[in-house]
Amino acid sequence: MNEHPNTQQPDGGHTDPRLDQLRERLAAVRERISSAAAAAGRAESPPQLIVVTKFHPAEDVRRLAALGVTDVGENRDQEASEKAAALAGLELRWHFIGQLQSNKAKSVVKYAHAVHSVDRLPLAGALAKAMAAEQERTGRAPLECFIQVSLDDDAGGHRGGALPADVPALAEQLAGSAGIRLAGVMAVAPFGADPVPAFEKLAELSARLTAVHPGATGISAGMSQDLEQAVRLGATHLRVGSDILGPRPALR
Ligand SMILES: *Cc1c(COP(=O)(O)O)cnc(C)c1O
Repeated sequence: MNEHPNTQQPDGGHTDPRLDQLRERLAAVRERISSAAAAAGRAESPPQLIVVTKFHPAEDVRRLAALGVTDVGENRDQEASEKAAALAGLELRWHFIGQLQSNKAKSVVKYAHAVHSVDRLPLAGALAKAMAAEQERTGRAPLECFIQVSLDDDAGGHRGGALPADVPALAEQLAGSAGIRLAGVMAVAPFGADPVPAFEKLAELSARLTAVHPGATGISAGMSQDLEQAVRLGATHLRVGSDILGPRPALR
């Protein structure tokens, strides 16, 4: 075992059944991703796996880091900031993937590498303002921002996100903000429906975005249930939780 901070075993090398379980599930998900990438002719440019650790303890994040995970996703600021502080010695990139209130922007920019859920102008403004102060203070790298788009046709299945028609204005604002890099688009497939039409629509939106903002090539799509379809339709970032960590507690 080398001395890299992420590969020190959480329990000093004794038996850890949870570590073994995470190792197996992570390997299975990595296998699914590489098969899907190969089938899509993308073996040379596979998507980035973000392991969604929300509701699971910081010790699990530490185990994942020991297994080579570099990118983790969280959807609540308080939980994420506590975990990031507890694991500050590890080299991890924290992705914020949940609905975000503008008044949390100042906190999020302290630990987040990326925010995948920018869906309205006031939030983009709050993140830009918070990043200006944070960069002044720490010199940190720009915040990667994905525009979350709603792909639901009906309001009933709404899972957050900007309307497709509002993407250009949001993109303009993010691209013009110092301290922010416009990374691309993000979506959650409509619940209980075929994800393919949704991911096709997202790919179209991405093409329209990159025509104006050539660097914004990111497509954050695909979760445990639909990662294969997402890879086939061009996802660059996958957000996978339950197939690696197991079921989340319903309440906390
Ligand atoms: C929880 C969550 C995920 C992970 O979902 P799984 O089905 O557990 O893989 C991905 N994206 C977002 C936005 C989430 O909130």
